[in-house]
Amino acid sequence: MHPIIQRNVGWIEVICGCMFSGKTEELIRRLRRAVIARQKVEIFKPKVDNRYGEDHIVSHSEAKIHSLMVEDPREILEHSLESQVVGIDEAQFFKENIVEICNKLANMGKRVIVAGLDMDYRGKPFEPIPQLLAIAEYITKSHAVCVRCGNPATFTQRTSKDSARVVVGAHDIYEARCRHCFEPPPEDTKRTNSHPDKNKQEVNAHPKTDS
Ligand code: ADP
Ligand code: MG
Ligand code: ZN
Repeated sequence: MHPIIQRNVGWIEVICGCMFSGKTEELIRRLRRAVIARQKVEIFKPKVDNRYGEDHIVSHSEAKIHSLMVEDPREILEHSLESQVVGIDEAQFFKENIVEICNKLANMGKRVIVAGLDMDYRGKPFEPIPQLLAIAEYITKSHAVCVRCGNPATFTQRTSKDSARVVVGAHDIYEARCRHCFEPPPEDTKRTNSHPDKNKQEVNAHPKTDS
């Protein structure tokens, strides 16, 4: 992937895809290799994702690695001044300043590896992942297995009736589906007619954590 690596040159890698597509597994795999190479690694996840405790990122296949839970992306900068490699999981849950922070870290010469959902449960781009994709040097789109037909899945089907953009859960309320099997939820008229800023607020809406 990196045939010639010059010292002190940073870059951004984005791993995106639907739920269950192996983003966290791939992030952990890359970070473990950096640890084996004795690089200084720091790993972060947003406060909203406390599904598996506060001090690890954990994949659906139960691979895990130690991480720090932060609320504002500026905390990532503060905690990674000494690191050579910075890992960030569930980046879609961060505010849009995550883009500027990733850029800063890469400009400081660090390897920044970011994983996140590229689409929400409606099949719409999940900001700020599109913005991160635009500035990344390397992009990986991972696919899950469609639970209906077995084809490669790129969509996350929500099986509960919740309409907030952020509802934290796993197999209990989400399924991986392909384009053919994905059933977009009916358009919410309140959402369609509302000011775009209203949608933004929902990104930060308090998630359901009891699932
Ligand atoms: P992501 O971070 O993209 O949500 P994870 O890395 O946490 O994904 O989990 C990937 C793992 O999820 C797979 O290796 C597999 O064990 C499991 N899994 C569960 N359902 C599916 C599915 N429909 N397709 C692929 N993998 C699945
Ligand atoms: Mg994940
Ligand atoms: Zn399918």
